Amino acid sequence: MCGTCGCADGGGEGGGTRITGLTRSHAHSNGGHAQGGHDGHGHDGHGHDHEARGHDGHGHDGHDHGGHGHGHAPGPAPLPPSAAAAGATGGGGTVTPDGETVTLEQRVLAKNEDLAARNRVWLAERDIVAVNMMSSPGAGKTTLLERTVRELTGRGRPVAVIEGDQETTLDAERIGAAGGDVVQINTGAGCHLDAEMTRDALTALAPTPGSLVLVENVGNLVCPALFDLGEGGRAVIISVTEGTDKPIKYPHMFAVADLVIINKIDLLPYVDFDPDQCEKYAMSVNPGVRVLRVSATTGEGMPDWYDWLDERHRQAVR
Ligand code: MG
Repeated sequence: MCGTCGCADGGGEGGGTRITGLTRSHAHSNGGHAQGGHDGHGHDGHGHDHEARGHDGHGHDGHDHGGHGHGHAPGPAPLPPSAAAAGATGGGGTVTPDGETVTLEQRVLAKNEDLAARNRVWLAERDIVAVNMMSSPGAGKTTLLERTVRELTGRGRPVAVIEGDQETTLDAERIGAAGGDVVQINTGAGCHLDAEMTRDALTALAPTPGSLVLVENVGNLVCPALFDLGEGGRAVIISVTEGTDKPIKYPHMFAVADLVIINKIDLLPYVDFDPDQCEKYAMSVNPGVRVLRVSATTGEGMPDWYDWLDERHRQAVR
């Protein structure tokens, strides 16, 4: 159980996290990827530290991601069910009503921060920018990603996607159909992605150096804000079919955002949503945050999103 938000995120008993590689290139790129051997051995408490060291940049050829001696990775996707989060977020700690909860929460987040920092190094070494995309369910993340993958791939810009959902590979299949390399993380009862799941997904995805990795987090405006994945940017998506006041109702999420995307603006004539007021609310919890208005369905405003991604990439590889 996740000691921070109480969700059963796959850590500990349940081990409910699954990672499924659907990417086409995965079939030929991951075979030589030493870290491909995520067969669960590295995910118990003991193996984890060892594995983490393999990921900290002391690696030799970029194939150190979680290297655990399984350099002869058995084969391509789909990966075996990952025990990815086992031991990752709770450490088996016992939550009691006497205050231990706070200690556990600090430990969970500290461990996540450490893994996120390693992910950040791993990505930077490959000139890859990862953007963590968060929203309520139904805000249009997957539709936005489909269009992004289609249009950027068409311009020769490599884009890969990590899909996070509690269940199903439906969104990953949509991204695959749009032409993107993709892996699906299913969190089971978990309500957010964490840095370890992201590391395992990156391992399976094996994104091309210099590419863009878009991470669709689990639809939820609360817990994903707490968990750094090692990303180079955070985008929060809100749709005009939601309340104008979302930014002040969920200030923690909007406070950590680098970008707020107001999506489905083609529906503005039909709904009671005030984009100017929403933008003011977003600014009130995160002064200076960039706000874009787009329709992933019609394509309006999408060039601004692509410009933002390019700018993020320029900053990251500078
Ligand atoms: Mg989705």
